[in-house]
Amino acid sequence: MTARDCVVCQTNAHAASYCQIDDYDYLRCNQCGLVYVDQLEKTENIYKAYSGGGLKSLRRRLMAPFRKFHQDRSFDYSVKRAQGIFSFAASQTEQVGKYLDIGCNKCYLLAQGLEKGWDVYGCELVPELTAPFLNTHKQCRGHVHQGRFMDMRPQFDNDTFDLITAIDVIEHFEDVITDLNGVLEILKPGGAFVIQTPDVYCSQAKQNGCEWGALKPLEHLHLFNLENLTTLAKRIGFSEVIGVDEVFEEADGNFVAILRK
Ligand SMILES: [Zn+2]
Repeated sequence: MTARDCVVCQTNAHAASYCQIDDYDYLRCNQCGLVYVDQLEKTENIYKAYSGGGLKSLRRRLMAPFRKFHQDRSFDYSVKRAQGIFSFAASQTEQVGKYLDIGCNKCYLLAQGLEKGWDVYGCELVPELTAPFLNTHKQCRGHVHQGRFMDMRPQFDNDTFDLITAIDVIEHFEDVITDLNGVLEILKPGGAFVIQTPDVYCSQAKQNGCEWGALKPLEHLHLFNLENLTTLAKRIGFSEVIGVDEVFEEADGNFVAILRK
């Protein structure tokens, strides 16, 4: 079987085997450095990997309809983290307006947006994660989509959002070109798209090789660095990509960038 094309270079001519993990092959494009899963798993199997299995996920699913936002065990920590990320992201825009968080998880960033007067929207693959927030903030129920960004995209007109964030999310995009295109379209001119994603040039990736924690072939389908993401984003039509020195969290080695329309 031939190797999948690098989404940045649009060819497999520079693709080389990188790591094999759980029967999935990661390739590395030796032209741009992108590390990516060769044969993507079917969408439904990717979904299963997110919702997880076992007792913890079952209990969460059963309890979700009754939980309130502030009852989360990591509430204080998560509010603090979200304050840092949201205030940075919002400082990249000129006005308080419409905000979308792609992969909004437990909706802590949406809660920050609400508090600061933003009109907030989100999408999340795992519905039980968003339930406590939506139980507490019932007015947001129509604004949080359960599913993929590409399935939510048609709800919005072009030039809708002042601010879009995707924190630890773009590495999950199955069709990264379509998704980034969708983000660009619904972003207002002058708006900001703020991302954090694993950095294939980070020291952990270099030191740990195939043991690098970001290599999760059902979840992390494309692993970028600032340079190749910039190349891709500019080709798609973003006017500017700015790397940010400080990351929101180190985790397995991340980078943060602001993409402008
Ligand atoms: Zn490439």
